[in-house]
Amino acid sequence: MNPIGHLINGELVTPEGRHQPVYNPSAGSAHADVLLASTATVEQAIASAKAAFPAWRNTPPAKRARVMFRFKELLEANADEIARLIGLEHGKISHDALGELQRGIENVEYACYAPELLKGEHSKNVGPGIDSWSEMQPLGVVAGITPFNFPAMVPLWMYPLAIVSGNCFILKPSERDPSSTLFIAQLLHEAGLPAGVLNVVNGDKEAVDALLTHADIAAVSFVGSTPIAEYIYQTASAHGKRCQALGGAKNHAIVMPDADMDNAVEALTGAAFGSSGERCMAISVAVAVGDEAADTLVAKLRQRMQSLKVGAYSDSSNDFGPLITAAHKAKVEGYIRSAEEEGAVVVVDGRNPAVNDADGFFVGGTLIDQVKAGMRCYEEEIFGPVLVVVRVDSMQAAMDLIDAHEYGNGTCLFTRDGEAARYFSDNIQVGMVGINVPLPVPVSYHSFGGWKRSLFGDLFAYGPDGVRFYTRRKTITQRWPSSGVREGAQFSFPS
Ligand code: NAD
Repeated sequence: MNPIGHLINGELVTPEGRHQPVYNPSAGSAHADVLLASTATVEQAIASAKAAFPAWRNTPPAKRARVMFRFKELLEANADEIARLIGLEHGKISHDALGELQRGIENVEYACYAPELLKGEHSKNVGPGIDSWSEMQPLGVVAGITPFNFPAMVPLWMYPLAIVSGNCFILKPSERDPSSTLFIAQLLHEAGLPAGVLNVVNGDKEAVDALLTHADIAAVSFVGSTPIAEYIYQTASAHGKRCQALGGAKNHAIVMPDADMDNAVEALTGAAFGSSGERCMAISVAVAVGDEAADTLVAKLRQRMQSLKVGAYSDSSNDFGPLITAAHKAKVEGYIRSAEEEGAVVVVDGRNPAVNDADGFFVGGTLIDQVKAGMRCYEEEIFGPVLVVVRVDSMQAAMDLIDAHEYGNGTCLFTRDGEAARYFSDNIQVGMVGINVPLPVPVSYHSFGGWKRSLFGDLFAYGPDGVRFYTRRKTITQRWPSSGVREGAQFSFPS
C-alpha cells in the first residue's frame, strides 16, 4: 500500500517504523498506510525548523507575505484535487470539502496582511527626548496538532499566520486523513517557502508527546477533543510552553415560538447533518421553547429529513457522507441506542441507511425528541448526524440549560425578537453566538474559540488573537543623550 510519509526540511521522507492504515470511509476499506513518526523523526523535524528560523525571522514580512499570495493562488488552482483527497479519506462531499478549503484560504488571505499585522506600536516623547515602541517578535519553533474533521481548514488556521509572523512550524495532522494536509503543505513549498520553515510529521501520541516535551518548541496550538485538549494544555504548560487547546462541543440552538419555523428547520437541517455532524460547530441540540413550538419543529424536521441524501463522497448530489471510522459509526449508533434506553423518543432513526456502498461507515440523519439533561445523548459530544430536541418552557430555562453544559463552543437563537436576541448574546456563556445564523463561525479577520471546556488557554485561534498567540511583545525605550551627564542618578520614578 502507498506509504504516506513526512515532509521534513522540504523533502518527503518515508523512514522505517510504525504505520497504520488510512481508510476510504465511503468504501469501508483501507487505501493507504500512514507512517507514525518516532520521537527521533520528530526531533529531526524540530532540528530542521530550528536551523531555518534565524534566516526566516529576518526575512522582511512583505517577502514572507508574498509566499502566501502565491500559496493562495496554488490552493485555488488545486482546489478540485484537494477536495478529492479530503473526500477520499474523510468522506466529505465535494461541495462541503470545497467550502472547508475556501474557509482555509481566507486564513491565508489574512496572513497576507503580515506587514500591517506586525507593525507594532510607537510612542514618541514618552519622556523628554525618549521614544518607546513595542515590537511583535516571533516565538521560534511552534507546533500545531490538528483533528481529522477539517484536514485542510484547521491546519490553515494555524501555520500561515505563525509563519508570516516569522516562526517555523511543525504540523502533526490527524493520522486518519493525512493526504490533503500533506498535499497542501507541498503547495506551500511550491509557492517558495524555504525548506525547514514548515515541517509535517504524521503520527500519533508518540509524535505529539515528543513535541509537547521538547525544549525547542516554544508554543503549541491544538484542535481536537476535550480530553486530549486538556492533556495537551497541561503537558505543554508544564513544559513551559505557550498553549492554546481547542476542544469539543455540544452546540445548542434555541428555537423561540416567534421564530420563522421554516427558516429554522432549513438552518438546523444543514447545521446538524452537514458533514455528518462531524463539525465542532455542528448544532447537536435544538431547545424548543414551549410544547407548541416543539411539536411544530419536530414535525417539520421529520418531514424535511425524508429528503436527506447520504452516500459516498464521490457523488456530489449527496448531502453528507460517511463517518470517519467503523469504530466511530458504532459509537454514534450506541448513543442512539442509549437515548432509547433512557426514555427519549427516536423520531427519525438513521441506523442502517439505504446506501449503495454497503461497507461504508454510514449513519443517516437521526432526530431524537423528549431528550433531557442527564441523558448520555445530551451530555456527551456525539459527533455524528444526530439532532436531539429538548423541550423547555422559557428562554431563560433554555439559557440556563446551555450555561450548565460543560461545553461552550457555539450557540444560536432563532427568533424575531430583537430584545430577546440582545439579551441572549450579551449573557450566554458561550464563545461564538449566532442570531438566526446556525453556524456562527467567525470569519478569518475575527478569531475562533469557545468558552468553558471547549478551550484551554487564553487566546482564540486565527485572526487578531492568532497574531498575538504566535508573537511575543518586546517593548523598547530609547534615548540618545547628547554628550555629558544631564540628569545624574535618579532614585525615584521620573514624573
Ligand atoms: P482527537 O482529540 O482524537 O485528535 C486530535 C489530535 O490529537 C490528532 O492529531 C490526534 O493524533 C491527537 N491525539 C489523539 N489522541 C491523543 C493522545 N492520547 N495523546 C496525544 N495526542 C493525541 O480529535 P479528532 O477525533 O481528530 O477530532 C474530533 C474532535 O475535535 C471533536 O471533539 C471536535 O469537537 C473537536 N474539534 C474542535 C474544534 C474546535 O475548534 N473547538 C474544531 C474541530 C474539531
